[in-house]
Amino acid sequence: MDVLPTNDLFNHKNMNKSFEIKYKIFHNISEIDPLVRQLLDHARMGLKNAYAPYSGFTVAAALLLADGQFLVGTNQENASYGLCLCAEQNVLAMAGSQYKHLAIEMMAVTAQSKGKTIDYPISPCGACRQVISEHEDRHQQTIKNSPAG
Ligand SMILES: [Zn+2]
Repeated sequence: MDVLPTNDLFNHKNMNKSFEIKYKIFHNISEIDPLVRQLLDHARMGLKNAYAPYSGFTVAAALLLADGQFLVGTNQENASYGLCLCAEQNVLAMAGSQYKHLAIEMMAVTAQSKGKTIDYPISPCGACRQVISEHEDRHQQTIKNSPAG
């Protein structure tokens, strides 16, 4: 395990990093790149595995890895709110645990509220943004994000 000396943690290059989210709204699914569509399909198929009995807000995140594999994670709620796990963090943990040598090319996130598709983009929470940022740093590569309703 690599442990940074305390001084290096505070001088780490990522301390001034920014996180930008831009949205592009498509009116027809045929306008979306076929690979992005395929990633979104994986996310949508994963929604059935979300566990959200308290909020009814199910979320699935799909990753496209550098070798072409797809991974899907979902949100997992808990009666103790602080123990709830986001879909994005779940799938990123899976990528880091099982495919740490592979960069993440793209992420798609989709959600439903009480079984109805959300028709507006959702963005990752602050904790997920931090985890995404560190995964980008690990592979020195930006993760393209494709949120979808
Ligand atoms: Zn989150």
